[in-house]
Amino acid sequence: MNIDLEFDRNHIWHPYTSTTDPLPCFPVVAAEGVHIKLEDGTTLIDGMSSWWSVLHGYNHPELNTALQQQLDKVAHVMFGGLTHQPAVDLCKTLVNLTPPNLTKVFLSDSGSVAVEVAMKMAIQYWHGKQRPHKQRFLSLERGYHGDTIGAMSVCDPITGMHSLFSDTLSQQFFAKAPQSPYGQPLLEGDLDSFESLIKQHHDELAAVILEPIVQGAGGMRFYSADYLTGVERLCRQYQVLLICDEIATGLGRTGTWFGLDHANITPDIITLGKTLTGGYITLAATLCSDDIATGICDSKAGVFMHGPTYMGNPLACAVANKSLEILQRNEWQDQVRAIESQLNRELFEAQQLPSVKEVRVLGSIGVIELHKPVDMAKLQQFFVEQGVWIRPFGRQIYIMPPYVIDSESLSKLTRAMISAAKMS
Ligand SMILES: *Cc1c(COP(=O)(O)O)cnc(C)c1O
Repeated sequence: MNIDLEFDRNHIWHPYTSTTDPLPCFPVVAAEGVHIKLEDGTTLIDGMSSWWSVLHGYNHPELNTALQQQLDKVAHVMFGGLTHQPAVDLCKTLVNLTPPNLTKVFLSDSGSVAVEVAMKMAIQYWHGKQRPHKQRFLSLERGYHGDTIGAMSVCDPITGMHSLFSDTLSQQFFAKAPQSPYGQPLLEGDLDSFESLIKQHHDELAAVILEPIVQGAGGMRFYSADYLTGVERLCRQYQVLLICDEIATGLGRTGTWFGLDHANITPDIITLGKTLTGGYITLAATLCSDDIATGICDSKAGVFMHGPTYMGNPLACAVANKSLEILQRNEWQDQVRAIESQLNRELFEAQQLPSVKEVRVLGSIGVIELHKPVDMAKLQQFFVEQGVWIRPFGRQIYIMPPYVIDSESLSKLTRAMISAAKMS
């Protein structure tokens, strides 16, 4: 029986789409390695890693086995008053992999929730420190931190659609987006906007929240490690906590374990998500330092006030453990390096095209930024005809394929990107 696209079109919301005039959806029946198989038999090479999440490829035998073995034991139990081996193993690994000061782990079900948790941790911490007026946040223009109300309040005010929700969202502060390119020293004046805001408002600021090195959904921008070093210094100077949102950058995507490794900074709180289960099941984590945890528990509540129903889901933890085990074999460094050098070789010819503003490559991320927004309907169809799955947004045609992609498949992706830029 065919997938009922008529029903899908009439009744099901897809991300950021209209239900009255949706773009077509392509029906998937299977996926394997870096290939997504459509119902009509077409096979697409995946350039998106299903939004940053797939690292080792689809239908991975070891991940499948880990999940099946856990399924035979227990699929889910509540995490209030109960615990289990997959969660303990996962949190041990996360504590080991992340900067040494981060020792306490809060598991949740999605990136946006992990960000809400991080923000609540920061607010509760300052309550514990008897400074309850410190409860607002400073973030960066062009940043993206999720779609829930709290997370939205720290997203770029324009692309985050703040005007639509202006009566609901907490009013936060936004520094100008970093202009200093990745790999280069800080441009004169680039930290000025951030510095003046933190100087002026530190008494009411609980924390700074940003995506280290790569601003993802807000425009695929890569910026200088010096900017992060400067941010860390100013956070310490003005007693404002630093939250690194590593939901997109965590676990190797930019060529280092975490985005923050490019600058060697030590945040108070980090969030992980997307990549955590290698693209299998939704799972997220928020890690904080002992100091933050103690502050939170000194607050009047005495406990951290959050507890999702599916917290620490054993299936998700089990598959995350296997995915992290695969990463810890350290093959990903060579894989990401190989992807990076191939992207560097193959994408930059697009720089000559009149439609192209800039080509950027970092780790396993390749971006062609156009002068004008893409025609989504046209390009989506074009990419599928070329046998690739690439989903552009705004002015960006970009890919971040699974780490296991072979060079021939990657060339197919880069050729399709360049053709798309030519016809734009
Ligand atoms: C995707 C993303 C989120 C939100 O994660 P969801 O799982 O979609 O809720 C938050 N922060 C960053 C940096 C992201 O890329």
